[in-house]
Amino acid sequence: ALRKLVAGNWKMNGDRAALSELDSIDAAAEAHPGVDVAICPPFTLIVPATGRAPGLAIGAQDCHTAISGAHTGCISAEMLRDAGARYVIVGHSERRTDQHESDAEVRAKAEAAIAAGLVAILCVGETEAERDAGRALDVVRGQLQGSIPPAGTGETLVVAYEPVWAIGTGRTPSVADVAEMHAAIRATLGGLLDGEGAAVRILYGGSVKPSNAAELMAVPDVDGALVGGASLKAADFEPIIAAA
Ligand code: 13P
Repeated sequence: ALRKLVAGNWKMNGDRAALSELDSIDAAAEAHPGVDVAICPPFTLIVPATGRAPGLAIGAQDCHTAISGAHTGCISAEMLRDAGARYVIVGHSERRTDQHESDAEVRAKAEAAIAAGLVAILCVGETEAERDAGRALDVVRGQLQGSIPPAGTGETLVVAYEPVWAIGTGRTPSVADVAEMHAAIRATLGGLLDGEGAAVRILYGGSVKPSNAAELMAVPDVDGALVGGASLKAADFEPIIAAA
């Protein structure tokens, strides 16, 4: 089995006062040295987060495709690296929807992240309508084919399977459906990345909480979790780290 990664995505939540949660999360990470733990706060908190929790990997939630230039309001992967980030989420479904990000743009962002020395956490996942139509596997395979950077390796790339209908809803796919999807992702990565496909970690995301984390994390080819709401409070995130 691959070393597990538990990553928290704070989304557009958190101010400097919220950084106090990192103290306990940092302690939980140290208590579970066999698990990689990351927190992806808003851009504004990356620098103070790295200062506050030196034992924790800090990540961002997006990056631009370019190194620098006339892109008002955007942040490059180099800037994130300079700020102390080690991970960056790319292609989250909220950005695919709200910012109309395409597979090609997501791939360019992942490539920029890897070139800057970051680990890209690349998100894929079907909508409820796509699952109901029996198209979930095809949709996710298509997203992978369109967005996986060919140079990705187990050291530079992580895939997160996040069914859109499970995000923030309290609903999760069955263990059998997670197993089927993660096996399909593993097989697709093998085709796209040759031998490295087996080394890329595949996280599950979508309503992961203390009560379901152990069951999800035990599914074959689930190499960790990408956690939204339950990563905001150390009391919720700690048991998820412990379950990994
Ligand atoms: P929730 O854990 O709040 O469902 O969010 C999942 C997610 O989108 C993480 O990126």
